[in-house]
Amino acid sequence: MNWKSHALIGAILAFVLFYLLGSRDMLELIIIIFFGAISALVPDLDHDTSKGKKILDLVFISIVFFVLYFSQCGKSFCIPSLGAIGQLIIFFFAFLGVYFLFFRFFKPKHRGITHTLVSCFVFSVLIYLIAGWIMALASLTGYLSHLLADQHIKVI
Ligand SMILES: [Zn+2]
Repeated sequence: MNWKSHALIGAILAFVLFYLLGSRDMLELIIIIFFGAISALVPDLDHDTSKGKKILDLVFISIVFFVLYFSQCGKSFCIPSLGAIGQLIIFFFAFLGVYFLFFRFFKPKHRGITHTLVSCFVFSVLIYLIAGWIMALASLTGYLSHLLADQHIKVI
């Protein structure tokens, strides 16, 4: 299944879940759809050449720059003093570093560790820590939808 189908399924399932849960806020639903779609691409990060990986690399880098741009420094590029935002930036860089190192050197085999329920859970917890339970639930839905669509569900 290609990345477009995965993203679409993740987006639809996340939308349906939150609609059924009673969410009617347009902005919230759009963000949820986005998280569902992005999360549905995460399991295929183990494809070195996957389009999903390229998109996610771009998303992560964009997030880092987005956070930097809207940091206390305002519109110029500088290192903010350590406040809540400063810590968030450091967290994002740490996350980015781990992300690149993991896929650069660990190179999991395709449909290996990223296609497991454990990874799904770890990913959702990570999103929960960064963005709260709503985004975590949207991410969980997207990630699970990928495993279901691949018909490849392992616990570990
Ligand atoms: Zn897959």
